[in-house]
Amino acid sequence: MKLWSVVENNKPLALIEKPDPVPTGRQVFVEVTHCGVCHSDLHFVHGEFDLGGGQVLKVTDRGVTLPCAPGHEIVGRVTALGPDAAGVEIGDERIVYPWVGCGSCELCLSDDENLCYQPRGIGTIQDGGFGSHLLVPNETYLFPFDGVDPAVAATFACSGLTAYSAIRKLGELDPDAPILLVGAGGVGLVAINLLRAMGHSNIIVADVSAEKRQGARDAGASAAVDNTGEGAVERVLEASGGLMQAAIDFVGKSATVALTLDCLGKKGKMVLVGVGGGEMPLSLPALIFRPRSIIGTITGNRQELRDVIALAQSGKFKPGPVTLMPKDSANEALDRLRNGDVIGRIVLERAD
Ligand SMILES: [Zn+2]
Ligand SMILES: [Zn+2]
Repeated sequence: MKLWSVVENNKPLALIEKPDPVPTGRQVFVEVTHCGVCHSDLHFVHGEFDLGGGQVLKVTDRGVTLPCAPGHEIVGRVTALGPDAAGVEIGDERIVYPWVGCGSCELCLSDDENLCYQPRGIGTIQDGGFGSHLLVPNETYLFPFDGVDPAVAATFACSGLTAYSAIRKLGELDPDAPILLVGAGGVGLVAINLLRAMGHSNIIVADVSAEKRQGARDAGASAAVDNTGEGAVERVLEASGGLMQAAIDFVGKSATVALTLDCLGKKGKMVLVGVGGGEMPLSLPALIFRPRSIIGTITGNRQELRDVIALAQSGKFKPGPVTLMPKDSANEALDRLRNGDVIGRIVLERAD
């Protein structure tokens, strides 16, 4: 198998060849046909996350050993089965649920495997979809997606799942209540589409890029506001008609979190998705006098992935644009994402 891998952080990916593993037990060997390119792949190449206050989290401290191939938005075709594998057949096309944990702790057993303290994520800790093939622990990591374009289905494993899980954490909301989304990159655009599929009509987007704001309007946002410079909070509140109860920050920088909290009214909830990095001063009494919640979220669980697939199959969820690039242009795809030169998602496609 061939893997476009991080060999050294902050360097272009290199093509590495390894012998194909022979699946044992319940393992399933999958040929990758499609793999989305996500912002966290950039962090993975860069090798660290900015935790704020001068602290960084290195990916190698999370259990990654280099070389390692990124890519966690994967659709593939089953090409070999371990002797005890069940529930899938050779030739089946499946979405790979990449958020592999230990499989035996309380979190894993209660379908929160994405939160396991011993993560072994495909494309985040172990080799991922920027390769020709990968080994999946068993069939419970594979999901059928009949009727959905495989390039689009690949994006459900991270951007779709992450956006959906963030929305669910806002709790029950009136369909007409304004919802603030900060950041209209890949995941933000998916959230617009999902919210509309779930019956929400009042979606206020804030983004620093005019092009991304237009992308948000095209995806069905009710308003898209520039959040750069002075008066950003006022501009957002003018668009929403006042303080809001629900917001999701897909950027996650000090400035965007501060703006989001300022736009929330009493009992408002913000869900933090983006790992832009940094820290922020927070008035603690202000959080009590105007009670608000900040809820962190990361990816999602299997049931949420099933829900996203079902929403797409129902025709209600119409995912945003996908730009196809050949598998061997992984480095070019990462450059385009790094330069912000993408509307929606880049998906690497296997050449036939
Ligand atoms: Zn991702
Ligand atoms: Zn676990």
